[in-house]
Amino acid sequence: MQDLESLKSDLVTAIRLLTAESIMDFNGHLSYRLPGTIQALINSRRASRAGLRVEDIVTIDLDGRVIAGEEPPSESPIHTQIYRARPDVFSVAHIHPQYATVFSIAGKPLVPVFTLGCMFPREGIPVYADPDLIRTRDQGDALAKSLGDARAALMRGHGAVVVAEDVVSCFNLCVWLEENAKKQLWASQLGTPHVFSEDELNRVRASMWQPSVIRKTWDFYVAKGRASGILN
Ligand SMILES: [Zn+2]
Repeated sequence: MQDLESLKSDLVTAIRLLTAESIMDFNGHLSYRLPGTIQALINSRRASRAGLRVEDIVTIDLDGRVIAGEEPPSESPIHTQIYRARPDVFSVAHIHPQYATVFSIAGKPLVPVFTLGCMFPREGIPVYADPDLIRTRDQGDALAKSLGDARAALMRGHGAVVVAEDVVSCFNLCVWLEENAKKQLWASQLGTPHVFSEDELNRVRASMWQPSVIRKTWDFYVAKGRASGILN
């Protein structure tokens, strides 16, 4: 496992970059579950996402209690209840992406129409119907139920939740979700978007969900962040 400081640093980098890409805003959070424990790292409730620092990462347990650091986000049950429901998941992002959220508002299915959308279900990304904030365990459980075994769920009129095996993969999926949403929305202005067939989806998914692709995406955004002063 990566050491704690480098895990915290990855969370800070990912959150700053997601904010710079307008996928996260003044709210939103990204967490990592420490393997073999019931603890998770997450950004604090108050710290600015745009200027986040390593010391703004707090440690909580899966009951939402603070182990170390400042107050965690009020919507921490999103993370703790998904970790309880999904043993395969080690990183959870709660984001407010501009484009993907529009699909939940319009009630239109967000479907894979673009190579980077290949990790999401052909029948559409599941939608959690209640627009209220997730502040209780029961609400977190209901969201985890909507998510099922998918890699993302939209939260109607609110945002999205994205899950992965690690922070870098979770970052990738957040970017890919929003890229697919942009292209589907723009294509729908021109006509009816072509959804990938089951066969296309399986083949593209196998090509794209590779450590080399995931790392390349991450390296691109990190370099872009450094060049623009988002990262120091
Ligand atoms: Zn939210």
